[in-house]
Amino acid sequence: MVDGYGRIIDYMRISVTDCCNLRCVYCMPESGVRFAPQKSLLTDGEIVRIINAAARTGISHIKVTGGEPLLRDGVTTLIHQVKEIPGIETVSLTTNGILLPECMAELYEAGISSINISLDTLDAKRYRELTRGGVLEHALAGLRTAATYPEMKVKVNAVLDEEHWEEDVMALTYLAKENKVHVRFIEHMPLGIESNETPVAEQDILKLLRQYYGESKPCREKIGEGPGHYFAFPGLVGRIGFISAMSHKFCSECNRIRLSADGKLRMCLQSKDGISLRDIIRNHVSDEELVEIIEKSIRQKPEGHCMNVQRIEAEGMCQIGG
Ligand code: SAM
Ligand code: SF4
Repeated sequence: MVDGYGRIIDYMRISVTDCCNLRCVYCMPESGVRFAPQKSLLTDGEIVRIINAAARTGISHIKVTGGEPLLRDGVTTLIHQVKEIPGIETVSLTTNGILLPECMAELYEAGISSINISLDTLDAKRYRELTRGGVLEHALAGLRTAATYPEMKVKVNAVLDEEHWEEDVMALTYLAKENKVHVRFIEHMPLGIESNETPVAEQDILKLLRQYYGESKPCREKIGEGPGHYFAFPGLVGRIGFISAMSHKFCSECNRIRLSADGKLRMCLQSKDGISLRDIIRNHVSDEELVEIIEKSIRQKPEGHCMNVQRIEAEGMCQIGG
């Protein structure tokens, strides 16, 4: 459906767990994270019911995220159920990749068509530091496994570390040299946790890459359903993408809504509270009422975020629907 600012809203990010097996410095505090108790999380049946209702409002693309989504018990069965919902065209996944080698075959069978793997550096020591304990080889094994499925769109998501960005851009871009892996640089967004907050500018990354790979061309082909924009370089098989929420604010084209693991429906990353669809459905609303509630929220989606002047009040992305 169309929101109050004329935007078509067809994309929903659902966080299926707030837990994670890593603690990336820009996403979660090192310790003391308050995970939601099990009974406050949406069950598979509740998620399917909400997506059914959302599909009736025009949502056709689902991104499964977290926390680390592959930590949720039975996540592939849930994904299979979501993929079967009338009106749902694509289901994609964002993961740190660590558990992919053991889940990939089932994810493929369940109908996942696109996987984003978060990988900020190819330097094993800094990967361990940035993720507070992660083993680079495990994430790379996940990436290699995903890349063996020719029909699967595989993207690498990187939030750059200001101090080492040139070296990391060059190493990560190399992943796109011979394989159809798209590498996307995500601008750091200010959450309610402390971390390095100066995003590396898109123009600086493009300038560096042009020196090595030649002139870039903006891509016309559609690579995902989200807000990334992409460039093709002559020497690269994969594309180079940018998600620049701060410097290239894309709110005027935003097509997404978010559902947190405990059932809060948020219209924007920065929406503070969100409406608890969990409480609403546990109070026995009808499917028609649920559709109306989601439609009403979409009509009230804010025009844009103001993260440039105000931080997001959350302890990590997992609290705001990944
Ligand atoms: N655990 C999975 C992963 O890492 O891909 C899925 C959840 S994670 C919250 C989803 C994406 O959010 C990751 O690509 C991560 O890099 C990004 N992210 C987390 N905190 C961020 C921040 N403060 N600014 C920008 N991106 C962030
Ligand atoms: Fe976990 Fe993903 Fe957040 Fe890293 S970015 S702490 S892998 S949820």
